[in-house]
Amino acid sequence: MSNEQIYRITVPTPFAVGDVNMYLIKGETLTLVDAGVKTEEAWQMFQHQLRQLGFTPSDIEQVVLTHHHPDHVGLLDYFPSSLHVVGHIKGERWLSKAPEFLEKDQQFFEQFLKECGVENAFLAQLSEMRSSLRYSCRRSLSATIQEGDAISGLSGWTVIETPGHAQSHIVLYREQDGLMIGGDHLLLAISSNPLLEPPFNGETERPKPLLQYNRSLRKLFDYHISRIVTGHGDDVTEVKELVEKRLNKQRERAYQVLDMLKARPLSAFDVCKQLFPAVYEREFILTMSETIGQLDYLEDIGKVVKRKVGEHYVYEAK
Ligand SMILES: [Zn+2]
Repeated sequence: MSNEQIYRITVPTPFAVGDVNMYLIKGETLTLVDAGVKTEEAWQMFQHQLRQLGFTPSDIEQVVLTHHHPDHVGLLDYFPSSLHVVGHIKGERWLSKAPEFLEKDQQFFEQFLKECGVENAFLAQLSEMRSSLRYSCRRSLSATIQEGDAISGLSGWTVIETPGHAQSHIVLYREQDGLMIGGDHLLLAISSNPLLEPPFNGETERPKPLLQYNRSLRKLFDYHISRIVTGHGDDVTEVKELVEKRLNKQRERAYQVLDMLKARPLSAFDVCKQLFPAVYEREFILTMSETIGQLDYLEDIGKVVKRKVGEHYVYEAK
């Protein structure tokens, strides 16, 4: 393991977040962690940087995914289907994109947004809620990983589950020197969005992503982490300080929402429009996820209650 080498490969994405990072680990095997976004430009830049490191795409023996978002998996479509791809089971439905799942996802969101107080007319103009999926890939995981697992060909690294930003989110931790490959769990320059996802098969309740995310952030305190190499931007070295900063900022935002609700009870959609007046239409899923997160948080700490009025819920301060 001592002669293991890690290289960063960075490609542009069509998303507001900008560039995305991948990591190539040259150890017992040649492993790629995450796989960019499906655009011709990203594929060309990926191959170019790989060549500079002395490799070609066919040298890559396996890919490990930190989570299923399009900007971390899209390039897989340029690889042969025989490539070994490893990730968390909760990402599978977003990778394989079975029509039944996409249909259920659509239905879940329509129903859920109705309960949030989103009007039908507004829903109708949201042409394609999941339009970012076109930059994703279509394939299945070859193997799944979960909390505490080792990955074959990557000895010394352990899988830690960190749901929140995505239900499938994991990080890789190398205990020997405290290095972490963190995906989008904790980013240096921006806060990570906990995104809404529908319930899993056999479950009726949707996950509460902000509550999960806060727990997953605190989980980092259990490890000695010297450095996190991240999915977007530079490395994080002051992990504890940054986690505290993110948690404080989130609490501040929640109390801002609580103040709104002290003035009058509001639906989640009303809160969203007040919180993000300039961007809620353009970044609807993102801003609604953020809003729901704050409301879940306030509900969880007993500061608000929700009650049903007609087809939707209103939140009121206790
Ligand atoms: Zn992501």
